[in-house]
Amino acid sequence: MSVIAIIILVVGLAYAFHCFFSANRIEESEARALADWEALPTIDQYLEGTDGSGRGCRCTKCGSNSMRNRGLFSSADPRRQFNCNHCGTVLYRNTTA
Ligand SMILES: [Zn+2]
Repeated sequence: MSVIAIIILVVGLAYAFHCFFSANRIEESEARALADWEALPTIDQYLEGTDGSGRGCRCTKCGSNSMRNRGLFSSADPRRQFNCNHCGTVLYRNTTA
């Protein structure tokens, strides 16, 4: 086997290991994000914890009623997470059909 063939083999193996372990890290990161999302209260659970003053859904930390609605992994993801648009606090989750 020539030296060049050995170099190509070593570089190829290193690249394959790099791809394999990078993919594992992404899967672990997504699994953590999903677990964090599932641990959030639902909108109904969140509203049960508010004062029930009828002023609509507000941030329990700063009182703002401005929410940012984003998908868990993409803008089209039906698993939605709502953050306070004022202080950034993660408030609750919801799922669209
Ligand atoms: Zn807030």
